[in-house]
Amino acid sequence: MAYMINDECINCGACEPECDVNHAISEGDATYVIDPDKCTECIGNYESPRCAAVCPVDACVPDPKRKESKEQLLQKWYRLHPGAQPVAGTF
Ligand code: SF4
Ligand code: SF4
Repeated sequence: MAYMINDECINCGACEPECDVNHAISEGDATYVIDPDKCTECIGNYESPRCAAVCPVDACVPDPKRKESKEQLLQKWYRLHPGAQPVAGTF
């Protein structure tokens, strides 16, 4: 499922550069935000969600309203990166 950023976010900005392939994270009005249409849970790029790994307050969490299978997340990755190949071992 796509990740989301909850109200615990302190706007430190650490997560944004970690999403350097999908560019799903941006600064929002109150907190940083994740575009669910671009978040693959890092499938295709990394072995585990990078934003969650760096967030100092654990504000990057799976969005329970966006349940997606690994296969769906991989298909999203292919749509985001036409003609490219996902990184082996990440899906
Ligand atoms: S889980 Fe990965 S793809 Fe999704 S927002 Fe975080 S860094 Fe980006
Ligand atoms: S790393 Fe965590 S606290 Fe920092 S901007 Fe991202 S979600 Fe907010």
